[in-house]
This record gives sequence, structure tokens and C-alpha cells, in this order.
Amino acid sequence: SIQKNVGKISLEQIDSLSGKSFPLCMRQLHQALRENHHLRHGGRMQYGLFLKGIGLSLEQALQFWRSEFIRGKVDGDKFDKAYAYSIRHMFGKEGKRTDYTPYSCMKVILSNPPSQGDYHGCPFRHSDPELLKQKLQVFKVSPSGIVQIMELVKGMHYQLACQKYFELTHNVEDTPFSLSHPNQYFSESQKLLG
Ligand code: SF4
Repeated sequence: SIQKNVGKISLEQIDSLSGKSFPLCMRQLHQALRENHHLRHGGRMQYGLFLKGIGLSLEQALQFWRSEFIRGKVDGDKFDKAYAYSIRHMFGKEGKRTDYTPYSCMKVILSNPPSQGDYHGCPFRHSDPELLKQKLQVFKVSPSGIVQIMELVKGMHYQLACQKYFELTHNVEDTPFSLSHPNQYFSESQKLLG
């Protein structure tokens, strides 16, 4: 559950975890955040809830987003006024006090497709195939692995493509799970690596 993860990771670990144990969708969001010091609403929701799911506390989340945003065009004052609310909201501390749960793969794949300037969504579903191939190369997936992944993408088996990416990047032949959630990807990866 989300509760039992709280406090398990430190902010300093996120960069290395993103390379080892984040699914491609979250790795892409993390990279875009680090590069642009900003993410639009769809990205903040998808990534923010994922981070909450892997164990960031509200205090850690505020610190994480604030420290990145103020490196860009947003100053601390603006952050506190315009963005802190939505982060507290994500943790159920504002508004209707709903404790929002991280998005499943189906939700990411089927709703709110990214437009220009967005980094949310599922790269297997929403990235241009050529760009996806390049990304996989950069992330050191073998040429034969890329062929297998792109076949699954072509058949619209996005979660299976992601699962294949998991197998290839964790050196396992057959995953003992059926992927349905980005946070599941993370915990299965941590089981193998941790
Ligand atoms: Fe993320 Fe799920 Fe897509 Fe994998 S299949 S990249 S975990 S949304």
C-alpha cells in the first residue's frame, strides 16, 4: 500500500532510482523535469502521484517540486502561491481531501493524451515510433530488443512492450508478473535490484 512506503526513499535517491527502477513513462517525466525545471499539469499529476506511491511524504514532495521549479522561471513566492496547493491537494490535504491514488497503465494509456510540450502519457502508446526507438537506444536496449519492443508497440500491446523493456533492462527472461501499474513496475524492479 502507499502508506507503508512513506519515508522509504530520500530525495537524493530519485535520480539513480529513475535510471534503474522507473518505467519509461516516469523516467521521461523525471528527465523533462530536471531539464526544464518545469512540468505542465498532466505531467505533475502523473509523476507526482507516482512519487507519492513510491513513498515520498508530502513534505518531501513539496521540497522536491519547489527546489526544481525555482531553478527555472518560477520563484519561491510564485511556487508557494501557484503550485504548492496542487501538491497538497494530491496528498488529500486540500479541497475535497480525496487521497488520490497513482494512475494505472490503463489510465495513462487511455486518458488525457499528451500534446506539444507535455511529457506525460505512456511512451509506448504516445511517442512517435522513431523517437521511441531512439530513446530505447539511448537507454542501451539492444537492437534485437528494440525490434521485439517495436513489434509489440505495432500490435498495440503497450503494456507488454513495457514488460519486455523491463525484462531487457533487468536481465530476466520472464517476468513473474503481469504489468498493470507504473508503481508495480517500480516495486518489482526494486525486488530484483534491492
Ligand atoms: Fe508507464 Fe504503464 Fe506505459 Fe509502462 S506501460 S510506460 S508503466 S504507462
